Amino acid sequence: MKYISLNDKAPKVGFREAVFNGLAPDRGLYFPETIMPLPNLFFETIQDLTPEEIGYQALKQFVGDAIPEMALREIISDTLSFDFPLVAIEKRTYALELFHGPTLAFKDVGARFMARCLAYFNSKTKISNSTVLVATSGDTGGAVANGFLDTPGIEVVILYPSGKVSEIQEKQLTTLGKNTNALEVKGDFDACQEMVKKAFLDPGLAHRKLTSANSINVARWLPQMLYFFLAYKNLKSKGEASNVVFSIPCGNFGNCCAGMMAAQLGLPVSHFIAATNSNDTVPRFTVSGKYEPGVTIPTISNAMDVSNPSNFIRILKLYENKIQLLQQSFSSYSFSDTETLQAMQELYKKSGYIADPHGAIGYLGLKKYNGDNDYTGVFLETAHPIKFKETVEAILSEKLEVPAQIQELLDKKKQSHTIAGYEDLKSFLLGNSNG
Ligand SMILES: *Cc1c(COP(=O)(O)O)cnc(C)c1O
Repeated sequence: MKYISLNDKAPKVGFREAVFNGLAPDRGLYFPETIMPLPNLFFETIQDLTPEEIGYQALKQFVGDAIPEMALREIISDTLSFDFPLVAIEKRTYALELFHGPTLAFKDVGARFMARCLAYFNSKTKISNSTVLVATSGDTGGAVANGFLDTPGIEVVILYPSGKVSEIQEKQLTTLGKNTNALEVKGDFDACQEMVKKAFLDPGLAHRKLTSANSINVARWLPQMLYFFLAYKNLKSKGEASNVVFSIPCGNFGNCCAGMMAAQLGLPVSHFIAATNSNDTVPRFTVSGKYEPGVTIPTISNAMDVSNPSNFIRILKLYENKIQLLQQSFSSYSFSDTETLQAMQELYKKSGYIADPHGAIGYLGLKKYNGDNDYTGVFLETAHPIKFKETVEAILSEKLEVPAQIQELLDKKKQSHTIAGYEDLKSFLLGNSNG
């Protein structure tokens, strides 16, 4: 299986090259050239399969011969070494909790899978080491740093905006040490991202073999399919797998697009709901047919503050760019901060469930969906509420318990380098090139 570029002006590549390139040379996103549905038997017996087996069956066609079976199985089982529980909220309504990984962020799975794939490729080539360079507005940095920690042959450099990430997020980025480096930028996230882009185009840094680990990378995007397969398996064991509707809190739409890819492989899902905060480019598109990104609006669900979601083009591609076809299995709604806070209160009062602002938006999406009544609704809870401690405690008038792993982290000492601009980044990368 090869990957094509959605801009159509770059050569087809295999999985390995798609992972190293991140983006195709024509700036297009990579997309699988062919998608082969899994056999019916797979879905009929899914409740008897291990997560590793499910992951292997789902991912093998996308990896092709880039990684042999044994190594791929090992990567998958290592990636999935924590739980993805389905928590009952109301009758036929579940929260799919994706925050039980090492950084309590749902991005852990994508970051861990990508790290292990790169480590495999590096172990086979024995050429010089590569550097993963990434800009973060908060959650991505921690998941990437943790995912790549101790990965042989890989140096990690993370840029984050000084004073603009939460204390927990900053500690997650800055306390790991070893092969991870945190660069604190006097500026905002856009400034960080600008510098990263510049470094990728700088011939003076070509020998550093820079790799991006952002969410458009196929190795971060595709393993997210497994959330949907594992949730389906779980629902099937409970006898609730008929007519499943997923509601996904969306920012860059990678997670949602992964779910829809799982459906292309044959996963029986009745409908997908993409729930957004006030950054409503896609909800507006589903009504007007016009894709018009606005200015990004800051919200309390800040990991979803994206006005031009990179992965939406992949969703359109899955539906042959036909909006009527898309609408049959996809709806998208936007919710304000006020509605989000009300949903958090409602969930807590009615069901005793503590949701973070992102999960609450997923819940709202499910409530708004007006499908036939007899369905099982699953909303994705993408962050542990402790990561949004102030917001959650204020709206629920409750104190949250700090999980042991977070307390341990808060007691650690931050290690970072402050950089003022691009020249500082470049000299850091050059000075750090002995590895
Ligand atoms: C990244 C993120 C999202 C959005 O996921 P996308 O795949 O970008 O749509 C939602 N919630 C949390 C907590 C996140 O970190």
